[in-house]
Amino acid sequence: MSQNTPDTEQQPAEAPAQPVSRVPLIAGNWKMNLDHLQAIALVQKLAWSLKDVKHDYSSVEVAVFPPFTDLRSVQTLLAADKLSIGLGAQDASPHAAGAYTGDISAQFLSKLDVKYVLVGHSERRHGHGEGDDIVKAKASAIAGSGLVPMICVGETAEDLETQGAAAVPLAQLEAAISGLPDEAEFIVAYEPVWAIGSGEPATAAQAEDVCAALRRRLSELRGDVAASTRILYGGSVTSQNVAGFLSQQNIDGALVGGASLDSQEFSRIVQFEKHVTTA
Ligand code: PEP
Repeated sequence: MSQNTPDTEQQPAEAPAQPVSRVPLIAGNWKMNLDHLQAIALVQKLAWSLKDVKHDYSSVEVAVFPPFTDLRSVQTLLAADKLSIGLGAQDASPHAAGAYTGDISAQFLSKLDVKYVLVGHSERRHGHGEGDDIVKAKASAIAGSGLVPMICVGETAEDLETQGAAAVPLAQLEAAISGLPDEAEFIVAYEPVWAIGSGEPATAAQAEDVCAALRRRLSELRGDVAASTRILYGGSVTSQNVAGFLSQQNIDGALVGGASLDSQEFSRIVQFEKHVTTA
């Protein structure tokens, strides 16, 4: 308080908005790894590890994204042991039901207590030819079923060279949310394609630049939603580098692939607040 401030100081008519707090989220994308028995073992070990360190799930949220065939088993374990680990799915059909062989409906996922669903992951965009239209349709179907789409965006090494880091992620984000109603909750995961599974993460500063640009674009498109929307970084995250990413202003969590398959390593990533950051 300034020395000249009178005791009877009046509050300004409009107090500056309180900064919105975004609960960090550490999400483990298992990809096509671990059958349902292995899934149960991993979740049990993860839960024990986090219990040992008295992890506060309300201050750092944790979610796992197992393959479809594991979901029922993991759901049963989470419910039986009253675990606070969230459940995510790796994909969902743009359709609610019908003659779509091999597809899984978001409505079915909601019956398994799934909360989050990945959409637009680079392995679907590039391995399955899923473009912005299908990502938009899936995001709408997910949100329409009361689930939270986790919209993955990111540039390839070639995009980076020809267009810079942010152009492609910004365009992908805009397309993906264009079908979502104003009130829909969603999460953005910035995952440079060149960093996924490569052991070569972006630097914290590189990731922050793009995440800040994504938040600015969200603000232009959706106003206040930008301040409350979580933006995660993904791409070769480990316990060694996670604290640097999470210390950035616009990075609210991590989407972790390979390192989420090891319960001890994933537990250490969840405990990023205890790590010394050099960022
Ligand atoms: C991912 O699959 O989303 C991912 C980021 O993988 P990894 O952590 O292995 O790079």
